[in-house]
Amino acid sequence: MALASRGGSSPPPAILLKEVYMPRCSECKKFVSLDENEPEVNDVDIDEEGHITATVRIVNVCAECGEELTEAELVIESDFDLTTIEHTKECTAPEITIDEGVCERITRSEGKGRAAKKFYGAMLTCKVYCTYCEASQDVEIQDDIQASAMETLS
Ligand SMILES: [Zn+2]
Ligand SMILES: [Zn+2]
Repeated sequence: MALASRGGSSPPPAILLKEVYMPRCSECKKFVSLDENEPEVNDVDIDEEGHITATVRIVNVCAECGEELTEAELVIESDFDLTTIEHTKECTAPEITIDEGVCERITRSEGKGRAAKKFYGAMLTCKVYCTYCEASQDVEIQDDIQASAMETLS
């Protein structure tokens, strides 16, 4: 009786479906994962009623070669409660403004498995302040867009 064992025939491990959006890179022609670049804050504004509008450009690049693949311009809007600014007693001419803040990329997924939708976005942390008395308050605003709704570059 031959005792030679035929090893190495165990079945391959199951392939897990990743819950990621994988576009095909126009440069290296592979289906690739994406890297998220630093968001570009183009504009941050606040009006007299406390309505904030910010414009942020986000770009996702090929993780393999760095080619820019998808982009979106997010227009983030939010209402800020101006009464949370505690002006000093001496503040006779309050004037509210907002700085450009610090911007970070954010992601989230909706749903599970094959049907999962991936969203890419940006979160801005800004300071709303009075140019007269310098009273201030931090505010966080954010928005995102579904990966498949982003504009394809190149
Ligand atoms: Zn590539
Ligand atoms: Zn003030």
